[in-house]
Amino acid sequence: MRFGLIASRLHRQDASGGLAHWAAVCDDGIRALQLELHAVGGTYDALMRQGLLAGYDRLVRYPDGRDGGVMRLVSHIAGGLATANELDGVIYLIDPVDPSSLYPEALALKRQCVVHGKPFVSTVAGAAEWVAVELAHAGLASEEKTRLSAIDSQTVALIAHDALKDRMVEFAATHFDLLSRFKARVGTGTTGGRLNDMAWSRGWPKDQPWVQRYLSGPLGGDAQIAELVLDRRCQKAIFFEDPHVARQHEADIQLLERAVCSTTRDTTCFNSPAMAERWASTFS
Ligand code: PGA
Repeated sequence: MRFGLIASRLHRQDASGGLAHWAAVCDDGIRALQLELHAVGGTYDALMRQGLLAGYDRLVRYPDGRDGGVMRLVSHIAGGLATANELDGVIYLIDPVDPSSLYPEALALKRQCVVHGKPFVSTVAGAAEWVAVELAHAGLASEEKTRLSAIDSQTVALIAHDALKDRMVEFAATHFDLLSRFKARVGTGTTGGRLNDMAWSRGWPKDQPWVQRYLSGPLGGDAQIAELVLDRRCQKAIFFEDPHVARQHEADIQLLERAVCSTTRDTTCFNSPAMAERWASTFS
């Protein structure tokens, strides 16, 4: 398995950064998975400088960002020019106030991951969780299972753009017992309404909403959920984004994703059905 790896300057500058934290926590897991990491220049150099993943030989250095390193990652997510270069996903530890996370190639990287159903992991907590997910799929989980199952004390946000609302209802129905284990569920107005109808039709008590609904996304629901994230009252966002349609509330969507990255050690985000399914299936 091959993943692209980038860390914003904040996350790679020293041993207190997110990159060092992730590499230390997941060192064993990365080696067990033999995960090939294709790291953009500055990130690769930071791993070397800080002695992270020492002696691990599955690290590949891409050019620096200014020389096209991130642009190449985008192409390789889409399939690249040769199958040998194709990547299975990306870990991009984002500092939301670092403008490079908003460069077109950074936005394209996420978009191509969503288009191709490949994981785009943007937080430190998410990167650790993803190694646990892959270990579970590889049959190498043990204590990783416990890390995955802290959900009983967490709140999950469920949001879907219009073209993906049916997929969200289907995902939630398929994994109803798992999602019901979360301490609470929140959602944007329309998505939440659809999910409550599904839950009631399955016998969830009629006087209780399965999902606590906020405003509809375009009216500020994404921003309200972002505030819950910033307050550490929501630890996981499952957001089925439609990469093919321009949306008038794009800024709100990005605001929520930036809130997730502001709480990088506490919050995780799945932005495609493929990613959410891969996570959910580790519990079955
Ligand atoms: P909605 O909002 O569930 O109210 O449609 C989702 C969104 O577009 O953010």
